[in-house]
Amino acid sequence: MYFTHSLTGALFVKPIIDKVEDKFTQKEKVVLWFAGITGSVLPDFDLVYMLFHGLGNHRYYPTHGIFLYISLYLLIYLIGLLHDKKEFGRKFFKTLALVTIVGVLSHFIIDTFIGGIVIFAPFSENIYGFGIYYDKQVSNWLFRYLTSNYMIFEAINLLLFFKILKGKKYFFAKFISLGYVVVAIFAFTLISVVFS
Ligand SMILES: [Zn+2]
Repeated sequence: MYFTHSLTGALFVKPIIDKVEDKFTQKEKVVLWFAGITGSVLPDFDLVYMLFHGLGNHRYYPTHGIFLYISLYLLIYLIGLLHDKKEFGRKFFKTLALVTIVGVLSHFIIDTFIGGIVIFAPFSENIYGFGIYYDKQVSNWLFRYLTSNYMIFEAINLLLFFKILKGKKYFFAKFISLGYVVVAIFAFTLISVVFS
């Protein structure tokens, strides 16, 4: 999926943030939403690299391997151990590490079904999952994607997102997620123009 990873990310971290709702301040919760949703788009940050180094299959990069994120998880967790404070303390960092990795996992799950991922990169280049199949022969890959059945998944994702994250309570979650959708649309369009 190209555009709505951040929406899936929000849906994945919602049960966690809902559960710890009373334990954290509003400020802490906004940071948790931001980290979880950012985690769900983090693997696609390799697009920035692609923009400067050419169009390969970006799913081969280590950004689509699990090791980078296990390290990130441990790093956040360790920082938490050093922060014995009331706000943004140990408990917060523990949850921060969790929502970040859950966000990343949501990306991996989607990419496994749409495209496949190199989960053990950079140690193995084996792709796990299902490739992207198009029934149309259009030369520009973005246009081919836009006219493919995969857009149905993107639309379902959008509908689910608005149905489940209803109300003012999720204002920041919606703001951050939709912000990333706009960034994704911009990034993929830019890449498709640069490399067509
Ligand atoms: Zn991806």
